[in-house]
Amino acid sequence: MKLRLIAPLLAVLYFAISASAQYQKQIDPDWLKPFPPFKIAGNLYSVGSAELDSYLVATPEGLILINSNLTESVPAIQKNIEKLGYRFSDVKILLISHAHFDHCAGSALVKKLTGAKYFVMDADVPAVESGGARDFYYASRQDLHYPPAKVDRTLHDNDTVKLGGTVLTAHRTGGHTPGTTTWTLDVIDNGRTLHAVIVGSPSVIPGYKLVHNPTYPQIAEDYKHQFEVLNALPCDLFLGAHGQFFDMEEKYARLKAGDKAAFIDPAGYKAFVADRKSVFENELARQQAAPPKSRPLQ
Ligand SMILES: [Zn+2]
Repeated sequence: MKLRLIAPLLAVLYFAISASAQYQKQIDPDWLKPFPPFKIAGNLYSVGSAELDSYLVATPEGLILINSNLTESVPAIQKNIEKLGYRFSDVKILLISHAHFDHCAGSALVKKLTGAKYFVMDADVPAVESGGARDFYYASRQDLHYPPAKVDRTLHDNDTVKLGGTVLTAHRTGGHTPGTTTWTLDVIDNGRTLHAVIVGSPSVIPGYKLVHNPTYPQIAEDYKHQFEVLNALPCDLFLGAHGQFFDMEEKYARLKAGDKAAFIDPAGYKAFVADRKSVFENELARQQAAPPKSRPLQ
């Protein structure tokens, strides 16, 4: 086997072993289920697994990858990018949906293999650079920690990322993590401009304290802000960090059957946001009605 092939394999092995005492037991089998890469529209491609979504934006000046997923996902992402005819080493910029191991554990390895620059939303930088040890909720959950990765550019709300004529906008849609990022970009497909929205995550994790949260006092305000932002975004192509957000497998089947507009789903986007908003509001009302077990010392 050529050295060119052995080096990445050794790197995967190294990162997989170093991560093995961490999040391994929490992996959902669907997260690693291979999925064929495909063109969503214009220069935007899906290169992730059946459930953990990664996106590739191809430009004349190189590639942008959104979501490194698990360390173990990286070889499959690389293979998917190569199946599309691109070179993994051309990934210049790495972005994420949010600082949880299922979307960013592979970042250290992607950086090592490609030399890509890692751009992360300000409020998620401490978690990413500590491998989850500074996560507001999972700090003590070492079983969910992941290889730390150095951030090369700290993003702020509404910052843009530009490469080869494509512009992505980073919307801080916090709550799920303080720096959860919803990415938007316009793609040109058959002469038509389509607004793509890659939702970071509006989900409320069971156990999240939405009131009197000492490690994330503004969590409820952030969720409220997130829903305002999501409701205001124009959306043609509805995408997200998890395939189940937007029924990826079902839409992919329609795409393969010839429906070129399978991923154009503004109504599905609105319904998804409304559903997650009501889940959040119900949970907030429940927690506000319940007497707090303990009040933080202020
Ligand atoms: Zn998450």
